[in-house]
Amino acid sequence: MHSPVVVLGGGPGGYAAAFLAADEGLDVTIVEAEPRLGGTCLLRGCIPSKALLHVAKVISEVEELKEDWGIEYEGAPKINVDTVRARKEKVITNLTGGLANLAKRRGVKIIQARGTFASSNELKLEGDHESIPEGATLTFDHCILATGSVPAMPPAFDIGSDRVMDSTGALNLKDIPESLLVIGGGYIGLEMGTVYANLGSKVSVVELAEGLLPGADRDLVKPLAKRVDAMCDGRVYLNTKVGSVCEVDDQIEVTFEGPNKFGHQRFDRVLVSVGRRPVTRGLGLENTKVEVNERGFVVCDAQQRTSDPNIFAIGDVAGDPMLAHKATHEGRVAAEVIAGKKVEFDKIAIPAVVFTDPEIAWAGITEEEAKREGRKVTVEAYPWAASGRAQALNLTNGLTKWLIDPETNRVVGCGIVGTGAGELIAEAVLAIEMGCEVTDITESVHPHPTLSETLMNAGEVYFGTATEIF
Ligand code: FAD
Repeated sequence: MHSPVVVLGGGPGGYAAAFLAADEGLDVTIVEAEPRLGGTCLLRGCIPSKALLHVAKVISEVEELKEDWGIEYEGAPKINVDTVRARKEKVITNLTGGLANLAKRRGVKIIQARGTFASSNELKLEGDHESIPEGATLTFDHCILATGSVPAMPPAFDIGSDRVMDSTGALNLKDIPESLLVIGGGYIGLEMGTVYANLGSKVSVVELAEGLLPGADRDLVKPLAKRVDAMCDGRVYLNTKVGSVCEVDDQIEVTFEGPNKFGHQRFDRVLVSVGRRPVTRGLGLENTKVEVNERGFVVCDAQQRTSDPNIFAIGDVAGDPMLAHKATHEGRVAAEVIAGKKVEFDKIAIPAVVFTDPEIAWAGITEEEAKREGRKVTVEAYPWAASGRAQALNLTNGLTKWLIDPETNRVVGCGIVGTGAGELIAEAVLAIEMGCEVTDITESVHPHPTLSETLMNAGEVYFGTATEIF
């Protein structure tokens, strides 16, 4: 078999690349090991986690009604886990079905098989599907490598017990354990911890670093850390290492070494969320000229070209940040380059969103990065306590800040913590991409009363003209 363009992996990077390549008039085949397109994002990542986080949010809002608004009702919400799980599956089925239609409409062929490189222009195909005879191969002129990533599971935690879950296991929502330990205070651990806590589990979080969400700006993390601490009734153990994990009497016994936690404790379930590793092992890359760095990521340039002229790499396998929208954008760049266009990806403002309660979002340069790089930026923040809309919605636990280049007055970064931060950051992405000056933000009329005004107000702080701040 031969296909001029082959995309290995049908996640958000792979299918976006394939669709655009087909739109450019190229003959494209996706090789995907699983029966459905969608990859981590659709099947066991972004989408199912957000479906569950929606339920978690509704439950916490119901509680807020009672506490803050005097709305009375009897008892606590009863949760039918089977229905929650079914609803989440329905969302996935709808979206994967849509992708299959989009592929069909564009004439993109899909081969369900595991592909490994036999050479720089040939994949070996293996699969249970009857259309894949033994020894089947697929040759190509160009291949876009989009094999994504999988959860990292350190050997010490990999004890072969279904009580120790990775993010995929946690999203399966088998049941609601009485107690859950989340190992790793990154975004996946905190999002899943929020889901389980709101569904009724007693959640604890352990993190090796001195704060949650290592790498994110501390002023953004602070309101979330307070909330997580309350959600966990203080069981957030920072600067703490998990030594061992073992199954004892239908529970998982975990040993801790840290200033606030030492010794061992038992939990009904443990979620290991200590990062993800790119899928580059076992792909036969040694039969190509593709280079992989010390962290296992494929080395590629701004056009997504690898060291092998026939092979491009995109998405999680091509390096940080491991985010679906970054994968999609890289996929588009690779497809356009193969189609002969002179494009490259200038990664100025890739947004990152943590869908916790409150949400955290940032784009462009962060304060932590500016400090590390010795770059001079002016930071102007607007607390949501001064926003009329935030007051009305009881969402004062937020902050919007701009990072401004003092020489040009251009906005180079933005950080937001608060409900809906993930939606609000889109304006900042556009502003940073377009090279907007602060006046472009402050002179654009923002609708009142909305949380989007906080972007304008934070800009006004730069000029000392913010009105609602005091
Ligand atoms: P993937 O989505 O991992 O897809 C790779 C595909 O390649 C898979 O379908 C796999 O089966 C296939 N494959 C691998 N090897 C082979 C082979 N040899 N042959 C054939 N097929 C193969 N990102 C966000 O932007 N926002 C979020 O809110 C978000 N939430 C997340 C929540 C969770 C719990 C997790 C785990 C991840 C989340 N992510 C989120 C990250 C996001 O899912 C990934 O960044 C994104 O899926 C990467 O896309 P990709 O196309 O590079 O790879």
